[in-house]
Amino acid sequence: MSIYDLDDLYQDVVLDHSRRPRNFRKVEDADRTQEAYNPLCGDQLKLYVVFDGDVISDIAFEGTGCAISKASASMMTESVKGKSIEKAQEIFESFRAMITMDEDVDIDRDELGDLGILEGVSAYPTRIKCATLSWHAMHAALADDEGTVSTEAS
Ligand code: ZN
Repeated sequence: MSIYDLDDLYQDVVLDHSRRPRNFRKVEDADRTQEAYNPLCGDQLKLYVVFDGDVISDIAFEGTGCAISKASASMMTESVKGKSIEKAQEIFESFRAMITMDEDVDIDRDELGDLGILEGVSAYPTRIKCATLSWHAMHAALADDEGTVSTEAS
């Protein structure tokens, strides 16, 4: 596979998820909600999480933002729905390490699956925050952190 094919694949997947985001809806009576904001790009989202014991039985989001933020949020919900909290946090760590090219973390490629397509984002530093916004929201929701997640320290 050439680098050009890879770019096409990346674009197709991002466009598909951004145009038709999965789990893009409000959840009434969610166990946790988490708002997140990336002021550099204007991406804004609200995440809804429902637990069944320690399993994420439902996860959905609403919001506005660029194609990458929406596509990444859509793919994030698909990848952690039905998973345990512990597993979801592991996927978060692998995804964050992949996007930020953190060499201190062993990235579980099998676990990431299709999310590996988003690795192309790591070449565009300004887009990394777009791609990780929903992931930080998920991470905070599972940890039950208070307050809005922002990509910029206040
Ligand atoms: Zn963005």
